[in-house]
Amino acid sequence: MSKRILTLFAHPDDAETMAGGTLLKWAAEGHAITLCLITDGDKGTADPNDNRDAVIARRRAEQTTAAARLGAQVITLGYEDGMLQPTLDLRRNLVRVMRRVRPDIVVANDPTIWFRHGTYINHPDHRAAGHAAVEALYPAVKKASIFPELIAEGLQPHVVQEVWLGPTGEANTWVDIAGVFDRKIELICDHASQFSPGPTRVAFERIAREAGQERGLALAESFRTLRLAANTVQSLADGPPAP
Ligand SMILES: [Zn+2]
Repeated sequence: MSKRILTLFAHPDDAETMAGGTLLKWAAEGHAITLCLITDGDKGTADPNDNRDAVIARRRAEQTTAAARLGAQVITLGYEDGMLQPTLDLRRNLVRVMRRVRPDIVVANDPTIWFRHGTYINHPDHRAAGHAAVEALYPAVKKASIFPELIAEGLQPHVVQEVWLGPTGEANTWVDIAGVFDRKIELICDHASQFSPGPTRVAFERIAREAGQERGLALAESFRTLRLAANTVQSLADGPPAP
């Protein structure tokens, strides 16, 4: 059965870099994907003469190209790149998006990650976006009494069945992306102002190899997944998702 999948990330390219292989597989299986971008990535330029509007226009055009590859809809929230905080305003906006799209699966950042791969300090926007997404998922999206103004907009509570978080140090789900790896690199490189094919392939092959090692997969994406339910006690009784 076709599922609705919603990604909630800070920047254009975050969904593609973190979960692009998994998204390509889901798209090929006929699932409906919506990409929600909290910022437009408006700081994503090294040219001091670039103005903000020009950067936004460029990055939106790149995102349109990448989204077309996934057959995905795009929603942008227009927050300022590099300044993201997990505020109640952001939480309300993410609940609004989830109640509109009504996804079966939400994909977002793991907010607990500060460092990766011995070389990388996680972008504070990624932690803020993940933090806000997790707090929107529980309990606000499924509870009518939180943000009653959304009920007034006609947006009823919704229960998301599964949450897929990454990058993570607590993986419990691995997706074999060997068959779509070349297309994942193309998908990432649709964000041409940020990624060039040579180093992108080397870097993401290293990441995919590392992710696959634990499960004997050549190339993988790994996630921390949670299975949610309308009744939290029932979800605890049911236990974690099968590996
Ligand atoms: Zn990012």
